[in-house]
Amino acid sequence: MKTGKLKKRFTEIFGRGREPEVYRAPGRVNLIGEHTDYNDGLVLPIAIDLSTYGLFRTTDKDKIRVYSENLNKMEEIDPANISRRRDDWTDYVRGVLSGLESRAGTISGFDFYLNSEIPVGSGLSSSAALELVTAVGAIRTLNLAELEDLDLVKLCQKAENDFVGANTGIMDQYASYLGRAGAALLIDTSEPSHRPVKLELEGYELLVIDTTVSHTHGNNEYNRRRRECETAIDEINEKFEKDELRSLSEIASEELSAILPRLEQKLANRVEHVVRENERVEEAANCFRQGRIKEVGELFYASHSSLRDLYEVSSPELDFLIEFARAEGIPGARMTGGGFGGSTIHLVPEGQTDDYLERAVGEFENEFDITPGGFPVSPSDGAKFQN
Ligand code: ADP
Ligand code: MG
Repeated sequence: MKTGKLKKRFTEIFGRGREPEVYRAPGRVNLIGEHTDYNDGLVLPIAIDLSTYGLFRTTDKDKIRVYSENLNKMEEIDPANISRRRDDWTDYVRGVLSGLESRAGTISGFDFYLNSEIPVGSGLSSSAALELVTAVGAIRTLNLAELEDLDLVKLCQKAENDFVGANTGIMDQYASYLGRAGAALLIDTSEPSHRPVKLELEGYELLVIDTTVSHTHGNNEYNRRRRECETAIDEINEKFEKDELRSLSEIASEELSAILPRLEQKLANRVEHVVRENERVEEAANCFRQGRIKEVGELFYASHSSLRDLYEVSSPELDFLIEFARAEGIPGARMTGGGFGGSTIHLVPEGQTDDYLERAVGEFENEFDITPGGFPVSPSDGAKFQN
């Protein structure tokens, strides 16, 4: 988005005065490593080239005014009462400001304009982008204390977990803050720590296709999967008379042949998915570094099959798009995000993205009578001061 246009809109909304400062925080897409983050496992997200922009201007009034262009809504937040939840979109802002208030200094009045190019609710994490743009902008414009990178990431995650009440892992905020142009982040969520992985895409592009479908049982099933993983840990500790397994990601793949037969089938499937998915993430990172895209693609397909058959979090719409990818002969595709609807990611030969997307949209419409969304994405830098 053009900074000049954003500033003009800011003035239209909040009136003339000092120039606002512009910040942006990107959305993210997870390349591989699904349902591993809450199992202390590995994930491989990129920050994408679609961002939420936040414009800030301090005022001498005792109130925070926040306007969302996407929702066409203005709301007020009382700096003396930041941590009062409202059960609306401003809770993301309140959650972050309230974390900053206890960690980094006093929150005084300011005007805050938001405009996002990230499709909201498509699994590209407009929520983390909103949190990060709020945090990065507030710290700099309000002269708050700087926080360590990981502290800031965790503060934003906490806003989403405790304040908004969404039980998500650390990946989204991590990628939106620490993402790098041209690279993915290989995050070990158990520490957490990360290494950048240079993406040698070798003539391929990353395309996200959003089913725009969101199955309502998804939330329940997500929580059920988390519980199943905990039950599996308990059972393994019990059956092998030890008490030392803390997470499924501690299981080595060589141990699976001893462990799986002693678990009920469904739990065995969940365990197998998590352990093998971690392996796939590591392999995919190596292949990406070396530009071995065909092999990355095979890992994408394998990840999808495992999520469909072993972890049982796919949906007919997601499966349809992955079957389409196979029929088109592209190297790889998979669902990305928690599942039960949401988005897919495809490795498409450079220059063919438009045609590929058009055919995918056409076939999807024929099958489901729904128009999916399509977004070519490329790995970009994390949240930043813009002007
Ligand atoms: P996702 O993160 O995949 O886009 P979520 O459901 O986690 O989906 O977050 C979407 C929510 O975040 C929206 O319903 C809204 O409350 C809030 N949000 C995100 N971006 C904006 C924005 N630009 N303006 C207002 N609210 C936003
Ligand atoms: Mg989100």
